[in-house]
Amino acid sequence: MNGRTLSGDRNQCAGCREYFNSSTAFDWHRTGEFSCDRRCMSDGEMRTRGMSINSAGFWITKPYAKYAEEA
Ligand SMILES: [Zn+2]
Repeated sequence: MNGRTLSGDRNQCAGCREYFNSSTAFDWHRTGEFSCDRRCMSDGEMRTRGMSINSAGFWITKPYAKYAEEA
């Protein structure tokens, strides 16, 4: 169904089945408190956070788009 190949640091989330270009991007899509309500963010939440999908179909972070963790 999909031709996306997992190689290097690329990975797929077992929870939401989305593909990520790096473990950093993967970390970014997880939100909530550990051991409390840790979960995957929705497509819209990831985009709000500044993430996007590259041409290969993998979610990527945008390190140059400043993101500050809200207090
Ligand atoms: Zn996920």
